[in-house]
Amino acid sequence: MFKKILIANRSEVAVRIIRACRELGIASVAVYSEADADAVHVTLADEAVCLGPAEASQSYLDQQKVLQAARDTGCDALHPGYGFLAENAGFARLVTESGIHFIGPTPESMDRMGAKIPARETALLATAPVVPGFDREGATDDEYIAAAAQIGYPVMVKASMGGGGKGMRIVDSEAELQSALDGARREAAKAFGDPTVFLEKYIQNPRHIEIQVLADRAGNTLHLGERECSVQRRHQKIVEETPSTAVDNELRAKMGADAVAIARAVGYEGAGTVEFIMDPAGGYYFLEMNTRLQVEHPVTEFVYGLDIVQWQIRIATGEALPFSQEQITPRGHSIECRICAEDAASGFLPQVGSVQVLREPQGPGVRLDSMLKDGLAIGADYDPMLAKLIVHAEDREAAIRRMQQALSDMCLLGVTSNLGILAEIIAHPAFAGGETDTGFIARHFSGYKDPEPGLPERIAAALAASMKGSAVQRGTTNDSGHADPFRSYGNWSNA
Ligand code: ADP
Ligand code: ADP
Ligand code: MG
Repeated sequence: MFKKILIANRSEVAVRIIRACRELGIASVAVYSEADADAVHVTLADEAVCLGPAEASQSYLDQQKVLQAARDTGCDALHPGYGFLAENAGFARLVTESGIHFIGPTPESMDRMGAKIPARETALLATAPVVPGFDREGATDDEYIAAAAQIGYPVMVKASMGGGGKGMRIVDSEAELQSALDGARREAAKAFGDPTVFLEKYIQNPRHIEIQVLADRAGNTLHLGERECSVQRRHQKIVEETPSTAVDNELRAKMGADAVAIARAVGYEGAGTVEFIMDPAGGYYFLEMNTRLQVEHPVTEFVYGLDIVQWQIRIATGEALPFSQEQITPRGHSIECRICAEDAASGFLPQVGSVQVLREPQGPGVRLDSMLKDGLAIGADYDPMLAKLIVHAEDREAAIRRMQQALSDMCLLGVTSNLGILAEIIAHPAFAGGETDTGFIARHFSGYKDPEPGLPERIAAALAASMKGSAVQRGTTNDSGHADPFRSYGNWSNA
């Protein structure tokens, strides 16, 4: 077993990995930027190393600094979390070559699956269904235009290196294609350092359904069922669940077998996720593979009774999976809500602020993976996700009720968050009916306004502000530079 692991990340995922290390008896080393000096992951780890300024390129994304921190503290392994350097094959190579174990797949399988174009080719080789598209290297724009006509509009122009819902455009007609190609290439070059784009048929009203895979070094490759992640804003997930209301046992076995075949095709090792998109008729197509831990892994952990992060670490030490596909059985239903510092009433714009009042939900089947603590300053340097609230219950109806209760038990004042809209999503009849596709938010929540805060929230906010010796700010983020504490709350008064 490893003795000491460096966690090359921040926020709730760093906390999650530190916990797994503790339970396995492994020492943990946190890294942090100057903006994160007081962060929970820094306090919780056995050791912590400051990497540099807040800007990610000078801290969490600085490969040499991260590697040096691992060397200086005598780590024998490194866990990259998700985001940042997690899918960077070059970094994985650098780490491996310096004699430190990179907890994840080999750099070679990351090369094959990290970019979307080679990943599509791999999926085709594994005879999995792939979204109809066009991606030939060196093709002229005329060939793209001809291909789009053949695929049929609308099409999507996507960046091969894209991620985090960024770098994709919907094109409705041939007249718009040329400018979409030009614009997408410019954006991709800037955001991902690579202008390569490709075409995909735009699937209307699809569901996003993904399969969790787990593979040991001996080539034992298993799947842990699906997660439905169709409730999205800006092509990014905010609510995830397993099982999906659109997947029965037969379909699960079929999609699972496709995901396993794709993972096997690249000799995959560790935990990974194969993402599919499903059309309203139930046809599904490969979208991409994420060669890392997924944000929404806890719903699978609940339902399959396995600790995915601990298995990532154990597989990395060479341990074999002690169970077969037949021995893995799902139990009950799990839902996750991503709690983000963002304003649902103004296009989900990220918000800044500081935590003035925090009350965390508790109870049977309730889990909060979080970076939150009293007084925490929330800036604009990083991803706006603050925490994930995950529930587990015997069936979907019970899980929905449990999530409603947990959301209303949660109180977060001092930064505008999406707690209000999450509560409304979970309470929505269309959600209860399992009618979730990627258009869910646009269809049911366009023109969304947060409900007016009740008296208890106002009193709590005023108290919190006066206790901290600062004036209560009533302005919006736009005019004061800080979030309005009156607009940031769960359904606290109902608790
Ligand atoms: P998941 O499927 O786990 O939700 P996402 O694609 O949303 O994964 O990404 C997980 C995290 O990593 C998010 O915080 C996202 O902002 C970040 N991320 C992933 N890929 C990229 C990328 N290429 N550029 C910037 N951020 C990314
Ligand atoms: P990322 O790397 O940013 O996660 P994905 O290819 O996984 O990119 O797509 C993210 C989301 O964008 C999907 O979950 C889906 O909502 C939407 N999307 C992507 N490709 C298509 C498509 N061909 N048709 C319809 N929606 C799509
Ligand atoms: Mg994706």
